[in-house]
Amino acid sequence: MREKIVAGNWKMNKNRTEAKALVSELLKEFKHKPAPGVTVVVAPPMPFTGEVVDQTAGTSVQVGAQNCHQSESGAYTGEVAAEMLKSIGVQYVILGHSERRTYYGETDAFVAAKIDRALEHDLVPIYCCGELLEERKAGRHFEVIEAQLKAALYHLHPTEMAKVVIAYEPVWAIGTGETATPEQAQEVHAFIRQKIADQYGRELAEGCAILYGGSCKPSNAQSLFLQPDVDGGLIGGASLKAADFAAIAHSF
Ligand code: PEP
Repeated sequence: MREKIVAGNWKMNKNRTEAKALVSELLKEFKHKPAPGVTVVVAPPMPFTGEVVDQTAGTSVQVGAQNCHQSESGAYTGEVAAEMLKSIGVQYVILGHSERRTYYGETDAFVAAKIDRALEHDLVPIYCCGELLEERKAGRHFEVIEAQLKAALYHLHPTEMAKVVIAYEPVWAIGTGETATPEQAQEVHAFIRQKIADQYGRELAEGCAILYGGSCKPSNAQSLFLQPDVDGGLIGGASLKAADFAAIAHSF
């Protein structure tokens, strides 16, 4: 059976005290009601990552980063290397998020190199792909997603690809309150899995976790997670409230 994952992307939210409190609340939620068979990941803002690793040590909650640089090390002011993340106990890294593509000009080539660095340092990349509203309206979403998969992933060796988690995040649904319908999500997830199967074979594709992201919340998580090719969620806004995030993790 495929891994089920619920990952929270806190983005640039919470100060140190609030971050600690959110993790404490989350740990209480999961202690009170565990989510067996679900991998729960939180990706706090970079300055608190180490503290969150310490706070969650020995619990079922894993820690991710929201980004890493595509180079091993060097003169890149303000950046963070995959090796640094690994050295403090981070396990996942979100790469290719549409906000990074839009605001920081990250291209698929950049993201491909970031995925390489992450894998070299044994971090699990959560690779985000998804179409813009105008691309969806023009019926180009499959073409756009296929191009994103090809550019960022198809250079990977099968042993590397087997470690990658994919997040389908239609850009028009991120932070907008507008969610893809379960049918829309399933259609794209099945398409992504088919593309991975074409490239790497059916067995690898069947093992690949494909998450949905875009205004996922307690009220819609279950209908999304019921879809056969939806293996969990990458959660933005709703990951900032412990009760909501825990409810999503309990929605399988
Ligand atoms: C995201 O940014 O990855 C995301 C899914 O955000 P939201 O849940 O707020 O739409």
